[in-house]
Amino acid sequence: MQCGISGEGEVDLASDLAAVYDIVEIFHSVQGEGVHTGVPHVFIRFGECNLRCEWCDTDFLTHEKMNAVDIVGKVLQYDCKRIIFTGGEPAMQDLWPLHRLFKRRGYDLSIETNGTIELPEGIVDWICVSPKDQMYPNTKIKQRSGDELKCVYVGQDLSLYDGLKDDFNHLFLQPCYLENEDIEWNGRNFALTEKVVKENSGWRLSLQTHKWMGVD
Ligand code: SF4
Repeated sequence: MQCGISGEGEVDLASDLAAVYDIVEIFHSVQGEGVHTGVPHVFIRFGECNLRCEWCDTDFLTHEKMNAVDIVGKVLQYDCKRIIFTGGEPAMQDLWPLHRLFKRRGYDLSIETNGTIELPEGIVDWICVSPKDQMYPNTKIKQRSGDELKCVYVGQDLSLYDGLKDDFNHLFLQPCYLENEDIEWNGRNFALTEKVVKENSGWRLSLQTHKWMGVD
């Protein structure tokens, strides 16, 4: 069965429009990290995650059910054709209904994932993997290629990424920032990460600039 929404000429699969997702929030902001720093996007933050990182700043356990038709309606309110699927862990979701609905409307799709779930080929246009095996040594990274490899630096040996980094176009180290630590603690971590980046060619520093700006 097919049907249209918003008076558009093209039709959508009814099953796509009815797909249900756990959503924490949908909001319009600038990307604060990595290659697309400063570029406006609509962020779709999904609920649930298969990891529990110490530095996680997202309450991914508080979410509500939303149909894809309502998600599309919300995103269409913004004058922005770029979407980031984030979380929680967005790869836990069946993203194909949203993929079809948004690609039909000309959106550019990115994902930020912890890499523990392999992504279906072609599901998004830009893959950012932020592995967490520096904290969870038994975590197996299944998504082993993509556009950005973005690693939170907590003092780990960068050889951890030797078998991974060649299949990514951009390598980032990001200082671990903990809101419950003081400015000196976080400052030391920033300085150490900068030092490691300078000593290891190919890696770039990624800063969570959205936190300085006080935006999501
Ligand atoms: S993988 Fe990401 S969303 Fe999940 S607990 Fe870690 S930082 Fe939070």
